[in-house]
Amino acid sequence: MAGLLFLPCGSDAHDAGPVWITPSGYRLTGEDARREIEAAADRLPEGDSGWEFVAVPRGDAPPQAAAFGAFAPEVTTRWDDQFLYIEGNGMPSHRMMVGITAWQQQVPLPQRYTGANAWRIPLKPTPAKEPQMVKGRFLRGAIAIAANGIPIFNPQNNRGEISYEIGELDQWGGHCGRADDYHYHIVPMHLQKTLGKDKPLAYALDGYPIYGLTEPDGSQPKGLDALHGHSAAGIGYHYHAAEKYPYVIGGFHGEVTERDGQVDPQPRAQPVREALQALRGAKITGFEATGGSRYRLSYTVGGDERSVAYEIKTDATYAFEFDDGRDGKRQETYRAGAGGGGGRGEGRPPRGEGGAQDGGPRRRPPPGQGGNGGWEPGAPKLPDQPRSSDGTFLLTSPVVEDGAGLPVEFTGDGGGVTPPLGWRGGEGTRAGPVVSIRCLT
Ligand SMILES: [Zn+2]
Ligand SMILES: [Zn+2]
Repeated sequence: MAGLLFLPCGSDAHDAGPVWITPSGYRLTGEDARREIEAAADRLPEGDSGWEFVAVPRGDAPPQAAAFGAFAPEVTTRWDDQFLYIEGNGMPSHRMMVGITAWQQQVPLPQRYTGANAWRIPLKPTPAKEPQMVKGRFLRGAIAIAANGIPIFNPQNNRGEISYEIGELDQWGGHCGRADDYHYHIVPMHLQKTLGKDKPLAYALDGYPIYGLTEPDGSQPKGLDALHGHSAAGIGYHYHAAEKYPYVIGGFHGEVTERDGQVDPQPRAQPVREALQALRGAKITGFEATGGSRYRLSYTVGGDERSVAYEIKTDATYAFEFDDGRDGKRQETYRAGAGGGGGRGEGRPPRGEGGAQDGGPRRRPPPGQGGNGGWEPGAPKLPDQPRSSDGTFLLTSPVVEDGAGLPVEFTGDGGGVTPPLGWRGGEGTRAGPVVSIRCLT
């Protein structure tokens, strides 16, 4: 399977354009998606199924989905009676890494926080009989999920140090764990530029929202408890971010299950290479997206200017070039699923806590497992048929009527027969690939 194309279905299916999910977790929209899909089609034998369209019905979104909706389509949500599921690739749209002075040589790589590996928060949080403090506990994995789909870890790293206070975090409050997974250790208050003050910046994994330094109406919070939360008319119990410890939350007001030192269950990051050691004296000076899924991180060590340039390819390989300054250049290619170390190996010095969350190598989920994504219900209205966000191409099918849902025989429920599809854009109509479509319920 080359990738997944998310396609909304149902009577209200025309609110958003298609999003293509590459095997490495990249979400492509608009012209990028079209280019990738056409390139993939060229590589396939005639009649071969190259990817899968996942059509997701819509319904009334729970109110918790609103904050995440501000970051669609990179972040998508779905829900059932119990939980809101938050999906994304773990790559924020803001710059990353710049400002870090305590670096473990990890770089941001997209993750597959989708399907069974999605983030989730309970829709009806339950107050715990005994609140659980996070100090010295829950040091692995996330304790909250930010509205942009990026996990927030304990303000302490897994060695118990306050991450923010020892140079580990970039200017946006994040860094990368041992699986090259980007995450925050403070509440990313800069998201208020997108969210405003009236929406939560994050949800703790117990289901209670985390607001910024003020109440939604701009007033100062009063009577915060040891967990850094309180109740207020209209919004119930909620937490507030802080500019000093606990930065995120002091503990969980609601019920959570602790297992192996983390909130359980929660998604796993997938390492593709060995976790590295701290690089003493390194200072990250730049991080640029250099086109497509190529990135370049620049840093200095003792006055020597160095960089790591890497590309995440659609065949799930990761091509790295390490420019080690005076020591020359070297190239490495990693492959998703090949594992990487994520923390095996005794005798190595303790390293930064980790994205791999529980260390060891992880296998990729079997094909298809990562596919049941959601569709962001709050996405802006788009015309008639699924269309790229920039309007440059249109996904067309003669069997899908304007304003109607996908006929059942073309859904997984009807046997998954492939409907005729075509891409219509600047270059005229082009025959589409063979696909299978599932309509998730
Ligand atoms: Zn961390
Ligand atoms: Zn409040």
